[in-house]
Amino acid sequence: MEKLTILPIIPQLTTFQIMTKQIHCCQCQKEVEARLTYGKEIYSHRDDLHALPFWICDICKNYVGTHHKTKDKTKPLGNIPTKELREARKHIHALLDPIWQNKEGDEKWKERARIYRFLTEELGYKYHTAEIKTIEESRVVYRLVQFYIKKGYLILTQPKSK
Ligand SMILES: [Zn+2]
Repeated sequence: MEKLTILPIIPQLTTFQIMTKQIHCCQCQKEVEARLTYGKEIYSHRDDLHALPFWICDICKNYVGTHHKTKDKTKPLGNIPTKELREARKHIHALLDPIWQNKEGDEKWKERARIYRFLTEELGYKYHTAEIKTIEESRVVYRLVQFYIKKGYLILTQPKSK
């Protein structure tokens, strides 16, 4: 394996030390021993992502990003999605995010929390987009959000005028 010579965001991660973590992998359909790596291994043509941490499943080679801008830089964003699930989640974000993103200040995070609470109640389990495990689940969520936008329970806000 090629040596990772980029300045590490994660000081513990050196070429001599492999860090692993139990994460659910959607393709393998089980908890796997995911390995911490850099974007360089995953996105060889995206220089901008080379120094960012990712958790990779060495069985199926799917991966998940981390909360690298927070204190806990190696905390995974969620489970390890398949390529198809990654796309499905993007569609859900495209539908959900405009509902809260255009709100001002604190209202923004309150609204985001409200939406996730709402979906958690509707689905009957703790919902988070990054934890969706199957395409069926993503379809249910997508339809649910569409339905409630149509009904006016989730109000799309207009972009702020600049
Ligand atoms: Zn896997």
